[in-house]
Amino acid sequence: ARGLADLPPVESDSLLQLIALCNADPRPEKIDVGVGVFRDGEGRTPILKVMKEAERRLLETQESKSYLGSAGDKRFAELLRPILLGEHADDDRIVGVQTPGGCGALRLGFELLATANPSARVLIGTPTWPNHPPLVRAVGLEIAEYPYYERGQGSIRFDAMLDALSKAERGDVALLHGCCHNPTGADLDEPQWRQVRDVVVERGLIPFIDIAYQGFGRGLEEDAFGVRLMLSSCDEVIIAQSCDKNFSVYRDRVGSLFLKTGSPEASARAMAHVFQRAREMWSMPPDHGAASARIILDDPQLRSDWLVELAGMRDRINSVRARLAAADPRLAFIGRQFGMFSMLPLSKEQVLKLREDHAIYMADSGRFNVVGMSDAQIDRFIAAVAEALD
Ligand code: PMP
Repeated sequence: ARGLADLPPVESDSLLQLIALCNADPRPEKIDVGVGVFRDGEGRTPILKVMKEAERRLLETQESKSYLGSAGDKRFAELLRPILLGEHADDDRIVGVQTPGGCGALRLGFELLATANPSARVLIGTPTWPNHPPLVRAVGLEIAEYPYYERGQGSIRFDAMLDALSKAERGDVALLHGCCHNPTGADLDEPQWRQVRDVVVERGLIPFIDIAYQGFGRGLEEDAFGVRLMLSSCDEVIIAQSCDKNFSVYRDRVGSLFLKTGSPEASARAMAHVFQRAREMWSMPPDHGAASARIILDDPQLRSDWLVELAGMRDRINSVRARLAAADPRLAFIGRQFGMFSMLPLSKEQVLKLREDHAIYMADSGRFNVVGMSDAQIDRFIAAVAEALD
């Protein structure tokens, strides 16, 4: 008989290992640019003031914690519509549901696709967020890769990307990052989005957009350009959205899944499947974070306070980027990118050496969080990286 003791060892997520290594490093000057959370100039990940206020109101007014059902907080999903969907907010072919973070939305979206078309392939850029492939494999769908980024050049391999997408089969799924690409920071510009859209339409692909950092890049509206463009052009679109970053509620697991089909009837049917899958996995999403975000979005004053705090986070990201880019011509590409991440053209050995010699912790791939370091650590980071690049 086989039991739990017979389970094979697990190759643990290298990023989680990195966090553990950094935590164990006693050097006080250590710089943690591995983990993907926003930090302010003092190196903290504070709770937004507006979130504290919303939580206070929630505490005072919530009268029951009875079940909400698989859809979670419906008003939350409704309030997200104009933010995410823009001019498509009133399209009744687009339906949305609260999920446990962006991860939950991704898993749910892939579950739905695997039910609808088990032979669909999911086209994933290289590199991409390391959790994408396991999320696809978990539902049994096949993965095909498309080239995305040239680390040495600091630029998108756009022709190769288009070429790979244009060879995909009808019904295949193109996984795209809505904005603030993780791990590279290299975002499609508007003309590039239009070209990708043309290929997606021509080949009959389903765009699946992962948007976890809306508001961290060019701006809240600007960051949704790709999402809205695909909605304008395609009958079927899937969007996995996260509020964990832009409301700074990482551990509260706040996200949503939106999908569009060709008709309100087909969308309602798809949503029934979504509820069924959600019921099998987590039954219903956690309430606290989404309820707090809902309170913010439902109140004009809190909403505008949130926009100010969000702009503050975005400004810090972009000002650290500008400072890194100005410091060394070899880092200039960082200033043309968006969101929390960029990738340095360093070998694994060089990354290791930064860890050993300078207590700088970044992923083996050279991905680092541009706002992982405090303001006081920036110069030392630049000097150490410049030395590593020499
Ligand atoms: N997609 C991408 C590209 C991400 O970087 C992340 C978070 N690291 C997520 C989705 C999921 O975010 P969440 O914490 O909301 O599950």
